[in-house]
Amino acid sequence: MKKIIQDLSYAELEEKVLSLGEKKFRAKQLYEGLMQGKTIRAITSLSNAFKEKLLEEYEDETVRVKETFYSSDGTEKYLFEFADGNLVEGVLMKYKYGYTQCVSTQVGCRMGCKFCASTLNGLIRNLSSGEILSQILLVNALHKGEIKSGQGAQARAVTNVVLMGSGEPLDNYDEVLRFLRSVTAEGGVQISARNISLSTCGIVPKMYALADEGIPLNLTVSLHATDDETRARVMPVAKAYKIADILKACKYYFQKTGRRYYFEYTLIDGENCDEEHAKALVELLKGLPCHVNLIRLNEVKERTLKATSDKAAYRFLGMLEKGGLSATLRRQIGVDIGGACGQLRAQYLGE
Ligand code: SAH
Repeated sequence: MKKIIQDLSYAELEEKVLSLGEKKFRAKQLYEGLMQGKTIRAITSLSNAFKEKLLEEYEDETVRVKETFYSSDGTEKYLFEFADGNLVEGVLMKYKYGYTQCVSTQVGCRMGCKFCASTLNGLIRNLSSGEILSQILLVNALHKGEIKSGQGAQARAVTNVVLMGSGEPLDNYDEVLRFLRSVTAEGGVQISARNISLSTCGIVPKMYALADEGIPLNLTVSLHATDDETRARVMPVAKAYKIADILKACKYYFQKTGRRYYFEYTLIDGENCDEEHAKALVELLKGLPCHVNLIRLNEVKERTLKATSDKAAYRFLGMLEKGGLSATLRRQIGVDIGGACGQLRAQYLGE
């Protein structure tokens, strides 16, 4: 595979352009084209000779949409293909105020969570910052002009980003950080860090590192249990990092950024959503500047875990609220198109 041009920052692009004997303003044209989701070849303001020089070194099409699935509720799910043929998936959720895109940070995942389809075949490789960014550039270009209230000259379609696709973002820390810098950079797609949520299974040392970067994004931790033993049954990473240490890292994050944090709690029948678990969750999180997102388990056919009933899910939510926690039950969208992490790719590879 050749190099990925979207990995370069604006300053690095400028250097590259100069080193190829071109005038500095070409960097601006190149950067603008790339940020509009164009391939190198499609940027008409650049000479063919210059583009050919770039193409000796860089992939032309960093990522392409191999297939799109449309849900009856408007949600779109993409199967993305990278230059080396690897596949990941992404989801676009449409809200009145803007579009939220869920992006992947790795091909596969090595965390081994028992309910998750992304991890079925382990980690294949990390995505580079430019490959993560390109998922957004592409989808943004596909939906250009659909959101009128965006800032700046080119109103963006994608206004919010969640790092909740396949992969563990903090297991690909350096590239994810570079991505966060590039996606928020002025002059690019420029998505505000406040509109970005990073979800982690709780890799504690990297949570501290992220806090020290001082990026005001929404930090979300996949909790899914209230004690380490139960958690380790569904999330092997719990053997390495204890809930108490995760909470300390969250506290540090809050001190550093002033941002409250989030917990994801997937309701698994017979495992973590009875009255005793609600009580334990209230005990654990009471008084902390956090919000709990309850998620209905999206049953994965390769896994045996079962979802809980809607009635039980609302009862669980009610118990958290009664205990004084700020909590919501996540609306289920895109279920008819294989909404859960890694389901689409797993299905595709299976066929
Ligand atoms: N690796 C990161 C981000 C990717 S998963 C993390 O663990 O947080 C995003 C969220 O979806 C996590 O909370 C994850 O636990 C949850 N998830 C994965 N598969 C699921 C499924 N089949 N049903 C419900 N939630 C799932």
